Amino acid sequence: MPHLPTADPYLPGHGDPSYAVRHYDLDLAYVLEGNRLRGTATLEVTVLEETARLVLDLAHLEATKVRVDGARLKKWSARQDRLVLQLDRAVAADTELTVTIAYAGVPRPTMDEHHEDAGWEELTDGVIVAGQPHGAPTWFPCNDRPDDKATYRTAIAAPSGYTVVANGLLVDRRRGASGETWTYVMDRPMATYLATAQIGRYVVTDHDTRPPVATVAPPDVDLEGSFDQQGAMLAYFETVFGPYPFDAYTAVITDDELEIPLESQGLSTFGRNFCTADWSHVRLVAHELAHQWFGNAVTLARWQDIWLHEGFACYSEWLWSEESGGPRSCDGWARHHHERLADDEQDLLLADPGAALMFDDRVYKRGALTLHALRADLGDDAFFDLLQAWVAAYDGRSATTEEFLTFASERTGTDVAALLHPWLFETGLPAYPAG
Ligand SMILES: [Zn+2]
Repeated sequence: MPHLPTADPYLPGHGDPSYAVRHYDLDLAYVLEGNRLRGTATLEVTVLEETARLVLDLAHLEATKVRVDGARLKKWSARQDRLVLQLDRAVAADTELTVTIAYAGVPRPTMDEHHEDAGWEELTDGVIVAGQPHGAPTWFPCNDRPDDKATYRTAIAAPSGYTVVANGLLVDRRRGASGETWTYVMDRPMATYLATAQIGRYVVTDHDTRPPVATVAPPDVDLEGSFDQQGAMLAYFETVFGPYPFDAYTAVITDDELEIPLESQGLSTFGRNFCTADWSHVRLVAHELAHQWFGNAVTLARWQDIWLHEGFACYSEWLWSEESGGPRSCDGWARHHHERLADDEQDLLLADPGAALMFDDRVYKRGALTLHALRADLGDDAFFDLLQAWVAAYDGRSATTEEFLTFASERTGTDVAALLHPWLFETGLPAYPAG
């Protein structure tokens, strides 16, 4: 049996490097009773290297019909959460294909050796999709690799009385025989794991800001002191990171309690247990919002570069604490966590932590401290100029740690690669950065 491709060693059995997807068009219908999902996915594909085979990721759902450029494909098979399409003939690099897949089934999250459940998951009365890092194939056929970003149109039919939220702007909402169809368009490139759908009995609160910020939540949740701060957070982050990268931002609060919140492109998802004014929750509201710049607009090219997301989002918490008069200044948080990391095991390589440790808390805290060390060396003006220039240059793209270091060195005229080498490429904790 021919070997199936892996695009990123942190996610074995996901992604096919031989092609890219430019656009996903998803037409889905969901029935809560019995948890039944039915859909048609149309993928605009560009072949990157000559191939007679395309391998897509699709987990637990059954493809029923495959078309390539409108013609029914005869030879395709499903195995190991992959959909293997055998083309009629080999196609050259740069060939553009339209692949249409009809599929259906009972969606559920996937697990792997190192990661918890991810993907489409039933709530008590609704649905959450938490895609990071390997959950996208649980609800649509995709090329599941973080360096292949595409635009999306997502239409989901759900029973009346439920609110459906997906990435991007709501462009259409209409009643039909089987409930209501909600259509969203995300016209900025998006990684597969950042695609999401949220379904629940929610009400929408607009926070009257520019760009628009909304909270979508069960009617009885109290947004005071937490989610009503998002407009102020966004305005502050724009002053330090540059313009908000998308058209709008939405926080979805599920009726069920959740262990951790999660970012998606243009929205984030929290459980109702995060709706307090307590700093331990407010910091996460800031953290997920900051991912819109660091993680969503600028996405890692390889999962080993995860500190480019989590270090930056964690540092954003410290910045917001200082800005909002929170429990500590940014430097106070940095000192606090440096002390704690000094007492912890020092066996993590920040620039390549391994799949098992990619969401280890040390990636977050040491990643934030790496930025604090950079800021201490460069000074505030050059540091924040760098952050803004980085987002502006890589917006809509994926990047590696090495690309960040090269970009930072060129922008600042400082050898940032040498400066940050001990933080990123050695395990021992460097001394506290003196500003
Ligand atoms: Zn995060």
